Parts: sequence; structure tokens; C-alpha cells
Amino acid sequence: MIFVVYLFFFKSDDGAFCEVNVQGEIVARLPLFEDCVKRVDTPGGYNMITVKEGCVSVTEADCGNQICVQTGQIHKNGQIITCLPHGLIIKIVSGQDKEVDAIAY
Ligand SMILES: [Zn+2]
Repeated sequence: MIFVVYLFFFKSDDGAFCEVNVQGEIVARLPLFEDCVKRVDTPGGYNMITVKEGCVSVTEADCGNQICVQTGQIHKNGQIITCLPHGLIIKIVSGQDKEVDAIAY
């Protein structure tokens, strides 16, 4: 069953994984086809990352500006959620292409 869903994500425009980056290091790689809630602790604080029905969102964080929480859900390839106070970036990746893109923030 998981294999079938995996193929589905590979062939669609939707991303297959989200990469969680903290200060330039990938700390987690979460498949989007599996619902989960993950707490990520950074030197600046924490972020609760929720994967639900193929979408990723930051549902809770203790950062000052709450922009990561307000960004809401992402699910398309290349979309990102950033939490600048924590140096956290969540990015949707397809799992197959190795495109390198600059983040101009
Ligand atoms: Zn934040």
C-alpha cells in the first residue's frame, strides 16, 4: 500500500517528502503520505511540524514572529516554510531531482 502511494507522489506535481533544515543541516526528512507530528528543537526554540493528508504545516512554535505558523500548509514541490528566528526551513522535495536553488531571504 505504501509503495503504491509512493509511486503516486513520484508521478504527480505534489512533493513526496519534506526536508527539515535547521541552520543549514537537514535534521529530518518526512514522507508526506504518512501523517505525523514532529517536534523539532532548534537552538532558538521549538517548532511543531504536522504532516497531514499530504500537506505540511508548522502548527506551533515559540518564535517571536509566528510567520512559520501563519504560512499555513504547503504541499507543492519547492514550496517552503521558513522560521527565521530559529534558522528553520521546511521544504517540499520530490525525492528524485537534486535541484539546488538559492533561497533569497
Ligand atoms: Zn517561526
